[in-house]
Amino acid sequence: MSEDQFIVFTYPSLVNDLKLFMENYQYSLPIIPPDEPRRKFTPINKRLCRFCGKDSSATTFRTDAHIIPQLLGNKYLVSDYECDKCNSLFSAYESNLTESLGAYRTVFNIPGRKNKVPKYTSPGDGLVASPNSDLNIPHAITIEDNTGTSFEIDDKTGNTVISYTKNGFVPLLAYKALLKIALTLIDEKDVSSYSEAFKFLMSDVYDEKCAEVAHVHQFFGSYRSRSHCYLFKMINPAARLPTHIFQLYFENIVFQSFYSI
Ligand SMILES: [Zn+2]
Repeated sequence: MSEDQFIVFTYPSLVNDLKLFMENYQYSLPIIPPDEPRRKFTPINKRLCRFCGKDSSATTFRTDAHIIPQLLGNKYLVSDYECDKCNSLFSAYESNLTESLGAYRTVFNIPGRKNKVPKYTSPGDGLVASPNSDLNIPHAITIEDNTGTSFEIDDKTGNTVISYTKNGFVPLLAYKALLKIALTLIDEKDVSSYSEAFKFLMSDVYDEKCAEVAHVHQFFGSYRSRSHCYLFKMINPAARLPTHIFQLYFENIVFQSFYSI
């Protein structure tokens, strides 16, 4: 029998917070999209959608259901318990999450669907960022400033600040995009405990109530990594803490949110 060991480092000022976390949450291995397509799936006639509860006699399972959005660089991490109808509802949530990133995916050359880096256009064509293959420079992009005010270049330091207005998005729907990933990853045996969270995800019945507590914390790291996520489960039933903590790493951004039964 072998035991996994890991060493965790933190800043001195955060030692107590880390202890609190380690005492109350089970360590989660990172969930990383595989490099190759998955081969084994539940046969379609035996599938059941975790989100709407319908089986293949009442819904369809034709589309690959990406657990982490494809628009965030995930190609092959897919589930076989999300039907097409739910998948298209979640795509709308994912669009809000990706709009919250503005021109980021273009500037950092993140291929989305069809392996293409997307072009980004801000409202009224104020800023247009697009991949430029004519320059013969790997990962070159062109950024057009049609307002004349987007670029602030500091001649002394060489730093350039680019300001622009992002396209509109609904933060609550971006939150739901992350909640969907977490609810896809929870253990099958925890699904019934989260029935209210599923209801919140699938309808607008709790939108008004939950809007105040549905926060996404966003951090920026100093290095880029491929998309992956963590789902930490609370193990101390007496603690008054969120039952799951979810983190999604995308390039140098970390999205974190908390969920409770
Ligand atoms: Zn469904």
